[in-house]
Amino acid sequence: MATDTVICKNCALDSKTPGITINANTGLCQFCEHFTPLSREKKEEYRAQMDTLFASPPKHRGTYDVIMALSGGVDSSYALYRLKEEYPHLRILAVQFDNGFISDTAFENAQKFCELTKSTYFRLVLDNNLLRDTFKKASRSMDAFPGFAKYRASDMCNTCMSIIKQKIVEMAIQTKTPFIVFAFSPGQTEIPFVTLTKPFMVWIRKLFDGQLKTMGVNERNLYLMDEDIISSTPPETEIMIIHPFLVWGYDKQQFKKECIRLGWTEPDLHDPNSSNCLLNAYAIKNHYDKYHIHSYAYDLSALIRQGNLKREEALKTLHTGFSDEAIREVQRKLNPE
Ligand SMILES: [Zn+2]
Repeated sequence: MATDTVICKNCALDSKTPGITINANTGLCQFCEHFTPLSREKKEEYRAQMDTLFASPPKHRGTYDVIMALSGGVDSSYALYRLKEEYPHLRILAVQFDNGFISDTAFENAQKFCELTKSTYFRLVLDNNLLRDTFKKASRSMDAFPGFAKYRASDMCNTCMSIIKQKIVEMAIQTKTPFIVFAFSPGQTEIPFVTLTKPFMVWIRKLFDGQLKTMGVNERNLYLMDEDIISSTPPETEIMIIHPFLVWGYDKQQFKKECIRLGWTEPDLHDPNSSNCLLNAYAIKNHYDKYHIHSYAYDLSALIRQGNLKREEALKTLHTGFSDEAIREVQRKLNPE
């Protein structure tokens, strides 16, 4: 007997997703049932903490105060602009990872926003053939990433984001940069400040090494932080990762408007979830086919819960199909004849 799919009355999670239960009495998923919004005091505390950190970055260190991951999409472009608006003295190095599937428009947008904010632009390029092979392995892998990570992002995106994270931490150690900024939405992470100590760096390296091993990736040192760089740092080394959207609040529509006003151009990717990476639609479909989890459902649902997104908009985004042509194009690139 087939059971009907029930969608949570409050967010966009549904009963057909493994691990999601909708309470028959309340009509709510387990996340909405137990949700408590962040108090005003807590928000103010975060704000004060970020102001203090950025107001006076540790002196006499390297060339930069902040290394930022810049995809060229709306979120990171806006975050770079806002960061420089609020803290004009910051010396920012913006890193765009060329994973082989970034749209030309995203490259242009990233460079445009670096010029606008007088930030240093750096394009991180790795071996494209090896990357393609790694993404293919990620797409064929099962359970390389632990349970909850599967709700946060697809296996292919988790792989890509982990590579960026490893490389940016490595760069921060080398350039003695005290802060790293990621423009994650409040649906993608819950913690605004993360202190990376030396043992923590060693641990995240080991963790990703294991995940790559599970996927069958052999060239792991290409993606991991350099072991010698970590071991040569003084034991008291600390890097702070900051997620500014958890402090500022998050309004995608407004960010997009602001970005367009500043000269940001919208790429045509036939993909409602991403404005920068051609791999994304394929990655979502692949993830869904493997686990029956839409990799944006949890993120968008958290945004609804926090009052950052309308439920109808999220449902529309999640139920927009992908163009077969876009999917086939990625398939061709991943499996060249
Ligand atoms: Zn819900």
